[in-house]
Amino acid sequence: MPTTVRAYAATSATDPLTPTTIERRDVGPHDVRIDIRYCGICHSDIHTARGEWGATEYPVVLGHEITGTVAEVGPEVTRFRVGDRVGVGCLVDSCRECTYCRRGDEQFCTQGYVETYSSTGRDGLPTQGGYSEGIVVTEDFVLRIPDGLALDAAAPLLCAGITVYSPLRHWGAGPGTRVAVVGLGGLGHVAVQVAAAMGAEVTVLSQSLKKREDGLRLGATRYLSTGVPDTFSRLAASFDLVLNTVSASIDVDAHLSLLDVDGTMVAVGIPEHPQSVDAFSLLVRRLSYAGSNIGGIRETQEMLDFCAEHGIGALVETIDAGRIDEAFERVVSSDVRYRFVLDTTTLA
Ligand code: NAP
Ligand code: ZN
Ligand code: ZN
Repeated sequence: MPTTVRAYAATSATDPLTPTTIERRDVGPHDVRIDIRYCGICHSDIHTARGEWGATEYPVVLGHEITGTVAEVGPEVTRFRVGDRVGVGCLVDSCRECTYCRRGDEQFCTQGYVETYSSTGRDGLPTQGGYSEGIVVTEDFVLRIPDGLALDAAAPLLCAGITVYSPLRHWGAGPGTRVAVVGLGGLGHVAVQVAAAMGAEVTVLSQSLKKREDGLRLGATRYLSTGVPDTFSRLAASFDLVLNTVSASIDVDAHLSLLDVDGTMVAVGIPEHPQSVDAFSLLVRRLSYAGSNIGGIRETQEMLDFCAEHGIGALVETIDAGRIDEAFERVVSSDVRYRFVLDTTTLA
């Protein structure tokens, strides 16, 4: 029998989110039913709710930073038991057969992976996310939350965490590398912790110095404001990797000028509008301009284990369901330290 769960949905680009109920599918042989305890509020939820990435199909239940406990498992499930602490991120299924799925890079699935919300499941039904009391997910896409991680601080790792961990690993952040993290928001504050734990020398570039103490405490050795005119000239050619986590358009050429020879600037922020890049900015020091999209299930588990081992978690402000719209506003105005997390017991 499908179960009915309480949820909050976006019904248009401009209306406040509204309480609703949604149906979750019956637990199939390989499925896990999860009682959701927390769901992080990612800026991608806001871009989607507001239709900033093209047409959104409403109503949509957002949320892809889910943690909770296993409530029921299908008869063929081998890796989870009732009561286990688990998480679900941006992916809930994929073809599982293509080259990329087989090697654990489901984010590159040639058939297109199934996103936690705003997607169509392999059963043909629209997917609905974590601003809800429960979800049913095939076991291969369920993550284990290590004992050392609290469920609220772990929730944002399921998207923000993997989105920064994957490029930091891919582009070799570690001892001897100089990493600049642009924007100290949800993604940025995890990036600083992860890059520092990997052994890199980390600098934060923020719009202001308001969050400087936090940035340094999280592991940065320098914290500078891009609003100060000489910041770019002072830091010219002094990084190997620039990780751009900003949700709005920035001056890409100015940030490329910060890279040393063979350096890479990675876009993980996805602003509403395209940004231009001048070829001259790249060719002068043989630079690369790259992008990175979340990460596969295997790497997400690796990231969670890494975070537990290094005592890394998101700094969260837990909110009731009635405050989601207010939280959206505060995220957009960079007034969040550093992730809002929905307490799903307040959906009742
Ligand atoms: P967030 O918490 O709002 O953080 C973004 C940060 O960017 C802000 O805290 C702010 O930091 C800075 N910022 C905001 N507006 C700015 C502006 N106009 N100019 C310069 N800096 C500005 O958002 P998030 O949840 O971390 O997400 C960041 C972006 O990544 C979003 O676009 C989101 O959709 C995207 N995302 C991408 C992936 C992926 O797979 N690639 C996954 C998740 C999210 P300061 O106050 O320090 O300046
Ligand atoms: Zn996200
Ligand atoms: Zn595939």
